[in-house]
Amino acid sequence: MIEAQHLSKRFGAVVAVREVSLRAADGRITGLLGPNGAGKSTTLRMLYTVLRPDTGDALIDGYSAVRTPLEAARRLGVLAQGGGIYPNLTARENILYFARLHGLARAQGRSRTAELIALLEMEQFADRRAKGFSQGERIKTALARALVHRPRNVLLDEPTNGLDVMAVRTLRRLLGSLRDAGHCVLFSSHVMQEVSALCDEVVVIAAGTVLASGTPEAIRAGSGTLEEAFVRLIGGAEIS
Ligand code: ADP
Ligand code: MG
Repeated sequence: MIEAQHLSKRFGAVVAVREVSLRAADGRITGLLGPNGAGKSTTLRMLYTVLRPDTGDALIDGYSAVRTPLEAARRLGVLAQGGGIYPNLTARENILYFARLHGLARAQGRSRTAELIALLEMEQFADRRAKGFSQGERIKTALARALVHRPRNVLLDEPTNGLDVMAVRTLRRLLGSLRDAGHCVLFSSHVMQEVSALCDEVVVIAAGTVLASGTPEAIRAGSGTLEEAFVRLIGGAEIS
């Protein structure tokens, strides 16, 4: 369970996030939907403890991201924007390295890594160096790494960016199975169709502020499609 409470963050004159509160429950896929520049990445970075909020706090399974960042981070698997994998390691080595960082024993790390490589259909490229990977290969590697310690809560920043249709399907299936296994899944997207296809709950954000949250049906109520509701909420700002 992830709970943001009145999170705010400014960068100089820019207020990136303003009093954002949200709740992502266990056994649900929650989508943070908003146009580019809405404050999605900034919000997620405060949740996964790499950015300290100016005000507010976030609770990860009840652990404060501000006061107990290590306890909070231990309960999170994170797919950051861009991924950030090591180019000189193979996909398998990238995952194994994280397994060791998270304290898995060597044999346990190896078997968990093999399991994730199979689950994400990475066999073709698992033992190639990450340098030169396609976007889809990079994302799968980063995702496997994020899941290696079986985190209860999974946080993904625009995970489908740059993925082809097959990779998106694999990702959707994986997020669905994490949800069905009781995990809390929170991901951001600027693509409305992506969110409506995947999410049980939606949080709409624009200009650093939460405009609406609830099930897609509730947000849609009275507005026809989710897309129409989204456009109405964000006041016609540019979306894709
Ligand atoms: P999103 O992920 O929704 O596209 P971001 O959270 O990345 O939005 O950015 C929200 C706003 O904060 C934007 O105006 C962006 O330019 C600004 N911003 C984000 N990170 C920084 C930073 N490190 N320094 C200055 N401005 C930033
Ligand atoms: Mg972003």
